[in-house]
Amino acid sequence: MALLSIVLPAYNEEQNIANTAKVLSELMTENQIDYELVFISDGSKDQTYEEIKKVAAKNPHIRGAQFSRNFGKEAGIFAGLELATGDAVIVMDCDLQHPPQVIPQMWEMWKNGAEVVEGIKSSRGKESVGHKLSAGLFYKIMSKLIKMDMNASSDFKLLDRKVVDVLLGLPERNTFFRALSFWAGFKTETITYEVQERQFGESKWSLWSLMKYAIANATSFSTLPLQMVTVMGVISILFSLVLAVQTLVKFLMHTAQEGFTTVILLVLLIGGFIMLSLGVIGHYIARIYEEVKGRPKYIISDVTDNVQGEVVGAWKKR
Ligand code: UDP
Ligand code: MG
Repeated sequence: MALLSIVLPAYNEEQNIANTAKVLSELMTENQIDYELVFISDGSKDQTYEEIKKVAAKNPHIRGAQFSRNFGKEAGIFAGLELATGDAVIVMDCDLQHPPQVIPQMWEMWKNGAEVVEGIKSSRGKESVGHKLSAGLFYKIMSKLIKMDMNASSDFKLLDRKVVDVLLGLPERNTFFRALSFWAGFKTETITYEVQERQFGESKWSLWSLMKYAIANATSFSTLPLQMVTVMGVISILFSLVLAVQTLVKFLMHTAQEGFTTVILLVLLIGGFIMLSLGVIGHYIARIYEEVKGRPKYIISDVTDNVQGEVVGAWKKR
């Protein structure tokens, strides 16, 4: 019988673990799906990992791991993919904002031959205005950069074992899971779902973390910002050509004297362009630096008893 793995990254979600585990295992049993739940505690500072160990001790279908510190949701997803043993893997949030009722449908689609099932949000659910604005801006920029509608796409998706192995085989550290499944291709189908309200606790994204996430993903997935540097250079050159002609004409007509304001403005404008460009290039150098160091995406500090002996990432329980 085919096995379905459900990967659930969790950061400070102590209130959600027991409930989510219960809801999902009941749903799987009801639909007669052979399943495993893989909880990854992303260096949670609360009792999340203790809760995972508790549910794992009671239910052999549940496995889990704890990171040595917070590595971010992206790392959590990849650790979960690594730990998952299923023939198909679903990634979802552990706050039940991704409705579990959709899972049996995704499973059916997989059984009928789909290799990737993309969860598409029909609405973004209830969010604060600030969050909506920042997330909205973030997804707008991202959509432009990677030429894909990011506003509706999500991390809620099913991947066939083949696709999981492709993603796990990628050598890069800076990954962007949401876009990578598009990039990988394969027989893809979509399923629309309504974002639910968070069960317990609060969203883990601040405006700042969302901004960092946006920059990291944009630079890890697109080189468009680098090309923008060239575009800005071309604009500057055109601009300076116009001014050069004007200056020369004035000089030849012996009417050149003032022009101090123009000089100041030009210095500021060009200085701004140059610094912005250096910043953009700097981000890419930072990415290259991180990749070259070749450090692991995450460090696992502990796994639940039923995972012992398996090699997970660079880590093996001794
Ligand atoms: N998450 C994580 N590491 C982080 C931040 C979030 O593993 O550093 C998990 C979190 O526990 C949740 C999922 O990612 O299961 C989505 O996070 P959240 O619900 O806070 O985001 P939102 O739904 O508000 O976009
Ligand atoms: Mg959430």
